[in-house]
Amino acid sequence: MKVPVLIPRIFDHPHTYSSGKFGKLKPGSIVLVPFGKEKEIGVIWDKQEETKKKFEIKSILEKKSISFNENIIKFINWFSLYNLVPKGMVLKMFLGDRSFFSKNFDLSPDIATKKKIKFHLNAQQKKCLKDINSFGNKFNVTLLQGVTGSGKTIVYFEKIREKILKNKQTLVLLPEIFLTSQFNKRFEDYFGFKPAVWHSKITKKNRRTMWQNIMNGKIKLVVGARSSLFLPFKNLGLIVVDEEHDSSYKQDEGIRYNARDMAIYRASIENIPILLSTSIPSLETYRNVKNKKYNFTKLEKRYKNFSLPNTEIVNLSLSKKNKNIWLDIKTLSLVKKYLDKKEQVLFFLNRRGYAPFMICKNCGTKLSCPNCSIFLTFHKHLNKAMCHHCGYKTNTKQICKKTNLNCEFQMYGPGVEKIFSELKQIFPDKIIKILSSDFLNKKKESLNLLNDIERNKINILVGTQLISKGFNFPNLNCIVVVDADFSGMGFDLRSNEKNIQLYNQLSGRAGRFSKDSLIIYQTFDPSDKTLNSILENKQEKFFEEEIYLREQKNLPPFSRLIAFIISSKNERESYLEAQKIKRSLSPLKGVDIMGPVSSPIFKIKNKYRTRLLLRSKSNIFIQKDISKILKKINISKKIKLTVDVDPLNFS
Ligand SMILES: [Zn+2]
Ligand SMILES: [Zn+2]
Repeated sequence: MKVPVLIPRIFDHPHTYSSGKFGKLKPGSIVLVPFGKEKEIGVIWDKQEETKKKFEIKSILEKKSISFNENIIKFINWFSLYNLVPKGMVLKMFLGDRSFFSKNFDLSPDIATKKKIKFHLNAQQKKCLKDINSFGNKFNVTLLQGVTGSGKTIVYFEKIREKILKNKQTLVLLPEIFLTSQFNKRFEDYFGFKPAVWHSKITKKNRRTMWQNIMNGKIKLVVGARSSLFLPFKNLGLIVVDEEHDSSYKQDEGIRYNARDMAIYRASIENIPILLSTSIPSLETYRNVKNKKYNFTKLEKRYKNFSLPNTEIVNLSLSKKNKNIWLDIKTLSLVKKYLDKKEQVLFFLNRRGYAPFMICKNCGTKLSCPNCSIFLTFHKHLNKAMCHHCGYKTNTKQICKKTNLNCEFQMYGPGVEKIFSELKQIFPDKIIKILSSDFLNKKKESLNLLNDIERNKINILVGTQLISKGFNFPNLNCIVVVDADFSGMGFDLRSNEKNIQLYNQLSGRAGRFSKDSLIIYQTFDPSDKTLNSILENKQEKFFEEEIYLREQKNLPPFSRLIAFIISSKNERESYLEAQKIKRSLSPLKGVDIMGPVSSPIFKIKNKYRTRLLLRSKSNIFIQKDISKILKKINISKKIKLTVDVDPLNFS
């Protein structure tokens, strides 16, 4: 009997095999097949590929005792079409490692039971839970909104508990960076066992045990980063996407997809409810709530009723005399009050390193990366200049075109290390630490640092965006935003929205256990629109204005964007191939194709990058037609084509 088998490689169609002695095989059965000179794990697929080519049909070698359910096949088919990714590559994410199919299948997951701590829901939390329950157990999307510290987690924990009692599985998606020990501890306290945590750094053995026990339904609760969306749940009953607005749900390398959106589709295929939790939603989610596509429930107040921090603007253009000093006198006097009370202060600056530019004062050379078209950032603790795209490092010695001696580089702009050294001079007896990815490479060190912060052993923290995430710092009552200037940052149509979300989250970090907390914004432009939206804290007004702008400019969610990035070692080749792809796509009806243009970051890792941007109406599923065209055109082997559906990043 002929059967279609999908192989986890770069094919969009299943291959035909003979089922031989295994007879009739159901779609989803996992098998071992000969492939070229190798053996490969494959899955019996739902549809046969029609082909006129004649070729020898080989027999299936082995049938595994486990299989995927129909929903997984549906999800893979849909995911592949939506994101324009070959089906085989999506299957590969589901199959994981070959060792998952080894014989020792019955390993029990390590579920050590601990003592549960009793949590009591307050009236608001009870109301939210009641709302959620009233939306039913079939597919529906609910936004659970509440300011940081209002206790959203406990509301969805309660819902998860109910699913566990009914023997159903739950997936909680979190941005990778939130999968902290603090979060796991809350889980443990609540449920009395450790959650199965799935992310990129777990060991191979743990990965296998977890995968197998998720497939046989023994593991009831998985907390994971976006890749956990590709786990073979047997009996999924609920999905929770926490921090749903977080842009790290968008996978921007390799296979590109938005994990939040794909989670919603997975829930619809499984016909189960999905909860989106956040303090400020993404604009799309906000609009879907407004249009009644999503349900909505809200926690109005912070958990113990502490108010949000007060705000203060420090106008740098009035006071800044020394070009290379970034901390204002007024800022420092406000900060000192908190330090005198032995409370923590955070200086927030979303720039790693010491200085983002280095310019020679004699010849004017700006140090830039030889592999990418961007400037190098100086890192003082390494004493090297570094590229934040490819990791290239160099010492800063260079022969000067003007003096023939070494260039004399001057640093421009602040980075966290620069703020650290300014603070060290002003507060020499305070304990000051930097919290950025460069300083948190080792797990143990970062745990120690977080513990020290929690126990108030650190007086001043200097941190990047990392700090705005999920951590709980009980003594932090004052935050300084060093550089609150929002114009011209990044290549992202969502930058306003993202800033609103980021600063909302950041201010939620302060004053969780105090009535007197403060957030200081240092800026050269106190009239800036984004800054004032943040200060006003009128999210609704901001969203309405932003939606109006998007509609005027025909941007998502009023249209669908699909980016094509054509990269090549050869600059001309990248451009010519982009033109060719544009010509092939031009017969599509109801779309504009913009470009080809050079990417804002034109060169990355020695590859030149040209972009096309396709815009279509949001109510037509244009991917189907694009997929047909892409299959027909011969794309040069010398280029790499990346398709990005619903792109967030335009660099
Ligand atoms: Zn580089
Ligand atoms: Zn020079």
